[in-house]
This record gives sequence, structure tokens and C-alpha cells, in this order.
Amino acid sequence: MSDATRVLVLNSGSSSVKYQLIDMAWGSPRPEAGGGARLASGIVERIGEGQGRIKHEPARHAPRERYESFPDHAGALAAVADELAADGLGLDSPRLAAIGHRTVHGGTRFTEPTLITDEVVEELRELIPLAPLHNPANITGIEVARKLRPDLPQVAVFDTAFHAGMPEYAARYAIDRAVADAHQVRRYGFHGTSHQYVSRRTAQLLGKDPEAVNVIVLHLGNGASASAVAGGRCVDTSMGLTPLEGLVMGTRSGDLDPAVVFHLHRVGGMSIDEIDTLLNRRSGLLGLCGDNDMREIGRRMAEGDDAARLAFDIYIHRLRKYIGGYYAVMGRVDAIAFTAGVGENSAAVREAALAGMEPLGIELDSVRNAVRGSSPRLISSDASRVQVAVVPTDEELEIAQQTFSVVRRSEGVMHGKTWNAPNELER
Ligand code: ADP
Repeated sequence: MSDATRVLVLNSGSSSVKYQLIDMAWGSPRPEAGGGARLASGIVERIGEGQGRIKHEPARHAPRERYESFPDHAGALAAVADELAADGLGLDSPRLAAIGHRTVHGGTRFTEPTLITDEVVEELRELIPLAPLHNPANITGIEVARKLRPDLPQVAVFDTAFHAGMPEYAARYAIDRAVADAHQVRRYGFHGTSHQYVSRRTAQLLGKDPEAVNVIVLHLGNGASASAVAGGRCVDTSMGLTPLEGLVMGTRSGDLDPAVVFHLHRVGGMSIDEIDTLLNRRSGLLGLCGDNDMREIGRRMAEGDDAARLAFDIYIHRLRKYIGGYYAVMGRVDAIAFTAGVGENSAAVREAALAGMEPLGIELDSVRNAVRGSSPRLISSDASRVQVAVVPTDEELEIAQQTFSVVRRSEGVMHGKTWNAPNELER
């Protein structure tokens, strides 16, 4: 067996690159069961914008920060490689097994983590119209990384993939089929790696197989989405063609009557681009009360601020509609899992989201809910039929695990055999 067990995870944005180097030999011997330990992580910011910054956080050394100009993604990745090399974790190490790329939109073409070839890059380019803000930067990251290590397997892991198995009745909008198909208009969903990771981790917390549990996952960050995961498969999710649909978010409206767009255009005289900006960047909590940070909204509510209170109430009302909707869709719910910045940290949001749902078998324990922590934990009462959990998400780990599985499979190691990590490295 090869001792190449490290995976570099890259999340390339238009002006930033986030990275993590994860060693899959640390943790479970079955990568698909959730092993992996972080050796280093970091971010390069303001690429192509004058003075940039790299913040590098190795697991075994003090964090380092450096300000310099990164004219492009190639320069940024070279800086990442230098920082890793300084810690003895260089990208030329034979222990590096693969690079995993977070890739936002896989359309209907990519429904699984995919080994990257020239053809795959071409097909990703064809998907740019579906994610014009994200996919171009993802592709740039892939190209730069392939140039840096042309011999190394690279894997694209898609934000949409976990939702690709949604039933057709959940994925299709009720509009003219021919028009929808001609323009690839359907519900794709996003935050897929998070929903997948959290639903599986929740099953583990319950001591059950993912196939045996139905979970509602509430990913509440600045972007927010809910999903219904039945027996390990996503059966519905709140984001759609783009991440605009669904829950009230930090700056996005979530659901609204599509005719609002016609009205703002025809009556309000706004252009389509202006409406796009309004709904994606100036709506949600920010549009409602001027703040998109739930901590600030909490502080303002405590001071009796009406706008902050109304924003909170609208946010919660929408969330409750999705919880009820997904309960009805699945019929039986074993667990509700809160994750991401708001979901992991705001006891007030969790409490308000589930208040009065005892007749549905959902009962929070207010003491457990108030305890802060960084590990997965149950916050429901012992009497609650539906378990309620806080499960910190780890999209990078999920990407590393999926990347590693693809590489092992492509090497044939996973076929009928178990990959055994050195015992002394397990934890
Ligand atoms: P994203 O990855 O979508 O940018 P995160 O998952 O990091 O977002 O979540 C960021 C949000 O989490 C912040 O906007 C803030 O509202 C919220 N948040 C972070 N910490 C807390 C906290 N202690 N209490 C309430 N909300 C919090």
C-alpha cells in the first residue's frame, strides 16, 4: 500500500484561496467512515488586488502571516507551497496523494467526486453559465494546481453533488418543461458537502447507520440552506438553481414570489442586474435591519430594537416552515441537526426555531442547548422522540475524504479490500 495519505484541499474563490492539508492516515482506517487530521490550513486573500495577505496555520507550529502582492492564483498557490515546505509539508512530498478542489456547480453532469482530466476541465467550463460567480475561480484553481503538480491526481468535489439524487418531483420547477430543459433550469441545491458530512456525523452521534436515519440538516451560516436526508440520501433541499432560493440568509432574500422581480423591473424601474444585487447582496437580514451578523442582531434585540426583532422573526418563521415541510416530506424524522456559524453558535436561533414543536415529538433541553462546545452534541431532552443535535460542519474534511476515496478507488485499492491505516496512527 502506498504511504501517500495526505490530501491538499483547495477552495479557490475569485480573489482568495483557502487551503487545508489533511492526513488521512490519522483517524479511521476507512476514509469513507470519517478519518483525517489537519496538518495545516490557511488563506490567501486579495489576489490580484495590490497588497494581499497569506495567513498560514500549521497544526504543530505558531500561525504565520505575511503581506505581499499576489498578482494571480499561480502566485498565491506558490506562496501556499512555500509555507507548507517551510513546515516540512512540501507539495513535492511523496506523501501527498491528491489535491481535492471544492467546486461549486456540477450541473447534472457531475454527480460524484470526479478525477480531473482535460475533458473534465472543458466540461466544467461549459457549466460556467450556471455559476458565473464561482465556477471560473474554481477552474482557475484547478488549472494552477495541475500545472504545479501535473503528475498528481486531482479531484473535483461538487457542492451540488449530494443533492443530485433528489427525486425529480423535488428537483423540477413547475414551469414549461421544454423551456426549463433548454436552459438547464432546475433545482440543484448547494452546501452539499456540508449536508452530507453533517447528516452522516449525526447518524454516528445517534449510534446508527446513515441508511437507518432520517435527518433534517439546517446549515445556517451567512449563506443558509436546509435539507431533508432520508436514509443517507438527500430528498429535498432549500437552495435551487442558484443559492438564492430558500431560507432567509445574511444578505439573500431566500424564497419570494418571482413576480417581485417583474414588479421591481416594470414598476420600480430597476435593471435585472440591480435586482440581482438587491436580492443576493442587500436583502436577507442585512436588508431587513442593516446587520447580517446574528450576534449583532441578538445584541440589538436585547436593547429592544424593533427592526432587529422583526428580522429575527422573519428568519425564524422561514426556518420553521422548512422544518415542518421536511418533516411532512419524510414522514418520520429521527434527528434535526444544526450546523455552520449561526446553527453551531446561536442557542437563541435553535430555541426559537423549534419552540412549541413538542406535539411533533421535538423537545429541546434548554440547559443542553445553552452549553457551548466544538464537538457534535445532543441538545434535545431525554423525552424528545426526535433527537436535536449541534454538529459542527467540516466541508474540507469531507472534500479530503471524498478525494482520497476516489484516488484509492482509481488505484484499485478499495476494490473488495480494506485500506488499513498504520494502527499507531489511529485515534
Ligand atoms: P459562511 O461560511 O456562510 O460565510 P459561517 O458558517 O462562517 O458563514 O457563519 C457566519 C455567521 O455565523 C456570521 O455571519 C454570524 O452571523 C454567525 N455567528 C458566528 N458566531 C456566532 C455566535 N456566537 N452567535 C450567533 N451567530 C454567530
